[in-house]
Amino acid sequence: LVCLHGRQTRLLSTSKSSRNIMPAWVIDKYGGDDVLRFTKNASFPIITYPNEVIVQVHAAALNPIDVSMRGGYGASTLSMKRDPLNIKQSGTEFPLILGRDVSGVIMECGLDVKYFRERDEVWAAIPPWKQGSFAEFVVLSANEISHKPKSLSHIEAAAFPYVATTAWSALVNTGGLSKDNCAKKRILILGGSGGVGTFAIQMLKAWGAHVTVTCSQNAERFVRDLGADHVVDYTAGPVEEPLSVLEKFDLILDNVGGETERWALNLLKPWSGAKYVTLVTPFLQNTDSLGIADGMMQSACTMATKALKHLIKGVHYRWGFFAPSGPALDDVRDIVDAGQIRAVVEETFSFSQVPQAFEKLEKGHARGKTVVQII
Ligand code: NDP
Repeated sequence: LVCLHGRQTRLLSTSKSSRNIMPAWVIDKYGGDDVLRFTKNASFPIITYPNEVIVQVHAAALNPIDVSMRGGYGASTLSMKRDPLNIKQSGTEFPLILGRDVSGVIMECGLDVKYFRERDEVWAAIPPWKQGSFAEFVVLSANEISHKPKSLSHIEAAAFPYVATTAWSALVNTGGLSKDNCAKKRILILGGSGGVGTFAIQMLKAWGAHVTVTCSQNAERFVRDLGADHVVDYTAGPVEEPLSVLEKFDLILDNVGGETERWALNLLKPWSGAKYVTLVTPFLQNTDSLGIADGMMQSACTMATKALKHLIKGVHYRWGFFAPSGPALDDVRDIVDAGQIRAVVEETFSFSQVPQAFEKLEKGHARGKTVVQII
């Protein structure tokens, strides 16, 4: 099998590499913090399609989805993405490598890759159905990667891709915002102090929006330094009360979920195209508990019911999702290199400290990103 993999890589790429194994943190089953295992013998990634590249990982970062996926979250849907014809037995995703962010250097290009070359410095958000970045190498398709900002180190760059592409997908693709239509728009970010929030504040300020943020009292100074115009402490009492006396909003990005849906849509300007976009959706939970077909049906019904209920009140209800995108990262790179967005790295761990990085993330109360230096 190893020989076949090696030959496949050589047929589709310019590779002269003969490596078959690499160091990585893997899981062999779903569970808690005891399932992470370091190995020097993880399978070296393979170029299966000619538009793929192999990236040597310099830095990776953690996201809440890493903790969730370690526990089996989304397993049904992600297995379907990995094996659409359902040919393989269950459990063939193991050993599974977590880690959705990468900043690194291209080591090898597939024969159809046009815009990237070996030794290019790139950054990318890795789709959750692919092997992740807590490893020395990762394979990605060329449309998922982007040249990394020159102004950032690998550690700083790794803090961006997953949260930036998620915020981009939610605000631009789902929310309809762009650099040309944001001026004077009033945006509310529920949960501004974490990874998505700290990126979204800076991007929206770079585009000229007025940004209100909810966060803990001890994060107020932090989010103001990132550009937030108005900050509301959610720990001081029911947060909807101080928010409801403010001028109404054009868009709400909800990074918190749960109870927020009960009151947040009342804060939107009615009959003006205003949108509520939540990143906290039951989509993967539904497919985990009900199976793919019933879970998707359940999600479609929930989404349609909620959208209709709010549409008759003149506001739009939407679910936002992470979407891998090299082109979105190209746009983000330009804003970063123009000095309008800075990396918010809360803490950096070494490659040997991946379990400690998970422990840190699980404690919550993020103030930006937790990054792992791989080499
Ligand atoms: P982080 O863990 O980086 O940040 C969460 C932040 O929210 C922390 O700073 C926390 O700080 C703050 N917070 C917690 N409770 C509240 C509250 N009630 N009001 C205001 N702030 C609060 O998470 P991310 O930014 O990476 O992700 C945000 C959410 O989006 C997560 O639920 C994640 O799962 C989801 N997500 C969904 C995606 C999708 O595809 N749908 C993709 C990416 C993320 P403190 O507790 O100190 O206040």
